[in-house]
Amino acid sequence: MKQKIGVYICHCGANIADHIDVEKVKASVETYPGVFLARTTMFACSDSAQKEIEEDIRSNQLDAIVVASCSPKLHLQTFRNVAMRGGLNQYNYVQVNIREQGSWAHSDKPADATTKAIQLVKAGIARVAESKELEMLRINAANKVAVIGAGVAGLRAAVELADMGTEVFLIEKEHFIGGRVSQWGKLFTSDQTGEMIVKNLYKDVIKHPKVKLYTGTQVAAKSGSVGNYNLELKITPRFITEACIPNAFDKAIEVCPVEVDDEFNFGMNKRKAIYKNYASEFPHLPAIDIENCTKCGKCVEVCSNIDLDQEVRTETINVGSILISTGFDPYEPAEGEYGYKTIDNVITLQQFLRLIELSGSKLTYKGKEIKTVGYIYCVGSMQIKGDKKYCSRYCCTSAIHTANEVYDKYKVKSYHLNRGIRTYGKQELLYTQSSLNGDVYVEFDPKKEPVIIKNGKGAVINVIDLLTAKEELEIPVDLVVLVTGMVPRKGNTIGDILKVPIGRDKFFNEIHPKLRPVETVIDGVQIAGASQSPKNISESLKSSLAAASKAASLVSKGEIELEPTLAKIHKNICEWCGKCAAICPFGAITKTTIEGREVAQVNVANCKGCGMCLPVCPVDAIDLIGYTNREIESMIDALID
Ligand code: SF4
Ligand code: SF4
Repeated sequence: MKQKIGVYICHCGANIADHIDVEKVKASVETYPGVFLARTTMFACSDSAQKEIEEDIRSNQLDAIVVASCSPKLHLQTFRNVAMRGGLNQYNYVQVNIREQGSWAHSDKPADATTKAIQLVKAGIARVAESKELEMLRINAANKVAVIGAGVAGLRAAVELADMGTEVFLIEKEHFIGGRVSQWGKLFTSDQTGEMIVKNLYKDVIKHPKVKLYTGTQVAAKSGSVGNYNLELKITPRFITEACIPNAFDKAIEVCPVEVDDEFNFGMNKRKAIYKNYASEFPHLPAIDIENCTKCGKCVEVCSNIDLDQEVRTETINVGSILISTGFDPYEPAEGEYGYKTIDNVITLQQFLRLIELSGSKLTYKGKEIKTVGYIYCVGSMQIKGDKKYCSRYCCTSAIHTANEVYDKYKVKSYHLNRGIRTYGKQELLYTQSSLNGDVYVEFDPKKEPVIIKNGKGAVINVIDLLTAKEELEIPVDLVVLVTGMVPRKGNTIGDILKVPIGRDKFFNEIHPKLRPVETVIDGVQIAGASQSPKNISESLKSSLAAASKAASLVSKGEIELEPTLAKIHKNICEWCGKCAAICPFGAITKTTIEGREVAQVNVANCKGCGMCLPVCPVDAIDLIGYTNREIESMIDALID
């Protein structure tokens, strides 16, 4: 039992002190058993206050401290560091949250908020009195990272990690790298094309001795834990052995009788079963889409380096950390949504972008020259009825950039039917340019969406314009382009395999959007790019660099420190019923045999200290280090005191 406890009650400026009588809290706890001194402080986290606490610990030889302030999410580590600098073990410190749980929650009842704060602080004192000195756990870590997804975010992360000396396995499900960016033409703000950006990144990846690239590869299973993950890879071959004599592959593609919708071009044309998405694609070899290949052998007749007998193989890699950069899918409108798939000349922005890339000196669609385009914004974003409530961020910019491109190239007239334009930052210049081009902006009420009506070879858009006092407009256009948002990748199994949580928007979730924006609750698993949320290219790359440095800092020392707050099995009491193993969401508990008895054991690298296993144990054989039954019971006693 600690007997020389220091207690600090923070004003947090007015945040706490406006609704909680901090002096009363201090007076109520300073005579509580074990308390040696109690003080109030204006900002406990300020440098000067931290120094005062350190000095208190040293000069009074305090054996534990309590800080009653804001959420431990914000400052737990701050005060643990204060404790250590003062000479205390960091686990002889308890933070009590009287801001979020006190003053903010009960700002309408200051007297009750003060009473609650007193009880919470007493409970904190009771807990710290029972606290033990604990040490961080250290486990070995392989200085290797698996980067899953070789779009621009994954490519950039791979190079960054390799430059920092970490070995990288870059794993791409498709047979070609570059992800979505390779599908886009000229980009804003660099004027480079997507192809050029991908080419530059690929060159860096392929020359780096520390990066091993896998294409056609998916992660099929995972075992192990942070520092020591084993990933089972399922590798689908390209059915090509090596580079052929010049033009043989082109011949093979020509003679292939199979034609399927070309996904790379969003179904705007057909491709063969042996294919490349575009001529200079990486890796340079074509691939055979075996699901659609009939194995007729016509390609083999013209190219001896095609081997239709290659087989799917598996390989296991060992890594210390994993970085997910699996990107996004464009929202696919429902049939009939703004005439999609029911009216001929309604297409998505992604289809339009590919149409531009595939067009020559004239922009035509289904035999008709395109002279006017009506863009409908926020399709699949900011939905009122659907579950995609979020703004997809990139689409306003992308639509306006596209309109400027087709104006420059083909003098196309554009109508932008929007719900408020969000071309933030440097991208605002595109909006200015589009206005100078003579583009027309019409703002509609999301509750009264535009209606598309077929009109011969074109369409008419009926819309009520909020910018012209709700005038009803009829806009004849050659093509309607649906500006669709971003949604998470379809059939992305990696989240399930790694147990990475997803948010309400179904994108992967970070631990904290501001404080830990690229880490997930699964230790050693980082997220980057649009797998996390809608992002434009530069935002994706920034997050990939952040995730890469986080992964490198974790594994590069060859050793990882883990919190010692873990489940502990009292093996003499455990009767192995398996209930704890079944409930643990992190798969941290397994069965072992000790002296002929089957008992539970905890994998310390997997255990998160969440405590879910404790209440299910019928014989009370589990304790949580740092939150032992003794500590919790002493807190309850203090709360009902
Ligand atoms: S629930 Fe308790 S008794 Fe059952 S296996 Fe787990 S620790 Fe042992
Ligand atoms: S504390 Fe949580 S993570 Fe650890 S073994 Fe128990 S249930 Fe699993």
